[in-house]
Amino acid sequence: MSFQNPVFIPGPTNIPESVRKACDMPTLDHRSPAFARIFKPAVEGVRRVLKMAAGEVILLPSTGTGGWEAAISNTLSPGDTVLAARFGMFSHRWIDLCQRHGLRVQIIETPWGQGAPLAAIEAALKADPTIKAVLATHNETATGVKSDIAGIRRAMDAAGHGAMLMVDGVSSIGSMPFEFTGWGVDIAVAGSQKGFMLPAGLAILGLSPKAIAAMETATLPRTFFDFKDMLTAYARGGFPYTPPVGLIAGLAHAIDLLEAEGLENVYARHHRLAEGVRRAITAWGMTPYAATPDLYSDTVTAVKVPAGCDGTALVQLAASKYGVAFGVGLGEVAGKVFRIGHLGMLTDVMVLSGLAAAEMCMADLGWPITLGSGVAAAQDYYRGTVPAMAMAAE
Ligand SMILES: *Cc1c(COP(=O)(O)O)cnc(C)c1O
Repeated sequence: MSFQNPVFIPGPTNIPESVRKACDMPTLDHRSPAFARIFKPAVEGVRRVLKMAAGEVILLPSTGTGGWEAAISNTLSPGDTVLAARFGMFSHRWIDLCQRHGLRVQIIETPWGQGAPLAAIEAALKADPTIKAVLATHNETATGVKSDIAGIRRAMDAAGHGAMLMVDGVSSIGSMPFEFTGWGVDIAVAGSQKGFMLPAGLAILGLSPKAIAAMETATLPRTFFDFKDMLTAYARGGFPYTPPVGLIAGLAHAIDLLEAEGLENVYARHHRLAEGVRRAITAWGMTPYAATPDLYSDTVTAVKVPAGCDGTALVQLAASKYGVAFGVGLGEVAGKVFRIGHLGMLTDVMVLSGLAAAEMCMADLGWPITLGSGVAAAQDYYRGTVPAMAMAAE
């Protein structure tokens, strides 16, 4: 069959037709002024999405993981200490990447399903003035947990600590509120294939003046990801090597779409979509893996499956029988959850189709749910709240 359903994974996300077209362009000389005309709006657009009053935006041909690597290798030196809480697969992977680069990571082990522990972060900072950076996973995609980045900044200030604040916003930026300058973020990392609704291929970073200054003394090796080479080339309207021009053009267009809907409306839409999913889960007699409602992510929900049920079996059946993609549980929660991604190009009606497909799989697998129960709960919620038509009207 050549038709395709929307995906319900927390990245890569569905690509709007006009974004796909914006990426599809003829070869262009990236040393010509034509490239600068594509590049500048993309960089300026990212600056607005991140809410940056000062600093620089960097676009790298990479993915979120490369963004992590670029963030640390440009600003830190071997043996430096960084502080990070581990509460899911993505916070774990960034820690692992730091360790492989010869950094000392002070890890605050935190139960999966919880978010960044503010009091423990403050205490750790007070105890160790040598910590160079605090790493924070804004939205832990493995567990569907959001953390309070403003709260981490307050904890850092309360400790009177001068460390940099580096935030993984790969699955939040562009879909959930983000305040680069307001939260005192020094490096923010995003990727093209989540909230920006593009194919994978770009790491998108924001750097504060403090992060830029840290480049001067940082001695971890970097070449392809060297911010200094990037910023030198950017100042001339170019790129230090061959840029993925189509993705950059697509990024500028995707930001146009987000801004045409209005960033606040985009965030409100994600909240509504997520809330409908949560109503459905409740109707199934299940709960999100996130420990408490204040931690619920608006971009991904990890659904705790009933005892004796296997979340991975549901994901496999959805793919093989119905051609629908959900996310499997990763690491510690493998089999114990399945994940519904609800970020990017999605409407109420698209989400309802995903919930309906999940119900069919549950019924097929003999899970104790009533067909239509979750869909009905989400329908009631969507009917009763303002529909997100800004996007559908595009
Ligand atoms: C997807 C994701 C990443 C990894 O990004 P890649 O683009 O797959 O390298 C990192 N952090 C979070 C929170 C993510 O959701």
